[in-house]
Amino acid sequence: MLTGNIQRNESGELCFAGQTVRSLAEEYGTPLYLMDEDRIRSNCRMYRDAFQESFGEGSLSLYASKAASFKQICRIVAEEGLGIDTVSRGEIHTALSAGFPAEKIYFHGDGKTEEDIRYALNARIGCFVVDNETELECLQREAKAQGIRQKALLRITPGIDPHTYEAVNTGTVDVKFGVPIADGQAQHFVEKALSMDVISVSGLHCHVGSMVFDEMVFEDTVDHMVCFMKELHDALGFTAEELNLGGGYGVRYLETDKTVDIPARIRALAEHIRQRVAEAGLPMPLILMEPGRSIVADAGMTVYTVSTVKHLTGLKNYVIVDGGMADNPRYCLYQAPYTVLSVSNAEGQEEVFDLVGRCCESGDIIQPGVKLPADIRHGDLVAVCTTGAYNYSMASNYNRLGRPPVVMLQGGKHYVAVRRETLEDLCALDV
Ligand SMILES: *Cc1c(COP(=O)(O)O)cnc(C)c1O
Repeated sequence: MLTGNIQRNESGELCFAGQTVRSLAEEYGTPLYLMDEDRIRSNCRMYRDAFQESFGEGSLSLYASKAASFKQICRIVAEEGLGIDTVSRGEIHTALSAGFPAEKIYFHGDGKTEEDIRYALNARIGCFVVDNETELECLQREAKAQGIRQKALLRITPGIDPHTYEAVNTGTVDVKFGVPIADGQAQHFVEKALSMDVISVSGLHCHVGSMVFDEMVFEDTVDHMVCFMKELHDALGFTAEELNLGGGYGVRYLETDKTVDIPARIRALAEHIRQRVAEAGLPMPLILMEPGRSIVADAGMTVYTVSTVKHLTGLKNYVIVDGGMADNPRYCLYQAPYTVLSVSNAEGQEEVFDLVGRCCESGDIIQPGVKLPADIRHGDLVAVCTTGAYNYSMASNYNRLGRPPVVMLQGGKHYVAVRRETLEDLCALDV
């Protein structure tokens, strides 16, 4: 199976995190997001232990909460000792409401508003990741007004191609994030930040993309960043104490995808950083990373009920389900691949179907060309694997569909972490 938490029992029924998917669907209804709490925790521990081993005291991995943000996940991440990376007041509020320690909250984003900045300062979050000079000026002004000295990292665009798909590339020189090293802008950015009396610049941040499988991407990024750190040291006398390398390790959506051995990659990366900073005559900085997808993706599964099946002779077969682009827009956005499984025994004859949703768009495709039982019909259950990242967090109410609940699976038990949206919820903001 795709991941260790997906199995079939003796009668061929699909199980997730050791529990029968059918009985969960019967209890909670569909569409349904399932999340394997034990897997989230073991993914957090994998990062925590790898960081401890490779970087030691003071280095920290942060969970990128945009992958899946709700209170229970924040509690789990806090209990596992990670920090959290947020990109909006909503994500900060969610983390704080879950009791997340404010000093371990990092605040990202290329379009922070003054209101966002005031809110985050007032909440005493640990660190801003400042994207640009306008934000820097605003942060200085607002921090001064609140009488706060604020720790900040500066987001730099290293000019790296992460060899991933266009929509999740954030490292090449032409992206909208951060300030590019290439034409000298980044050095000016740092110089300006250092001149601001209520901003304490602890170091640099970069994030080159998501779904990174290429082993050299982080190493190349380090080469660019250490080279820039050396320039800053020589030109401005500034030594970066922290280097945040962003998130991005890839996960397996298909059986044919490679597995990234993250602890091994982190070990090799640590070695590489030590070597490069030593060559540059710089002290080893504290290292931060911000994994999102690789913490929650394989902890998730979405379960749907088949509404109907259409055979367009000689053209296409459709399986239409009770969810779709409203709960998972990722195929529509960037043709994201997924593994789709039949919940009941799948040993009989199979046929190829496009798994599509119930939204009024021809583009409402969850996954084209998937193999499902040839006799699949109304009322059968279908599971889409690896939906823990960027599904719930990207879900919408398009067509006024209520968002599915998130049900957590833990040690053979299950509980609701986010309840299903009701018809009343859908009209709750209407006057
Ligand atoms: C999206 C993002 C992450 C997380 O990326 P994953 O691929 O989910 O690990 C981390 N840092 C920043 C700045 C991001 O934009």
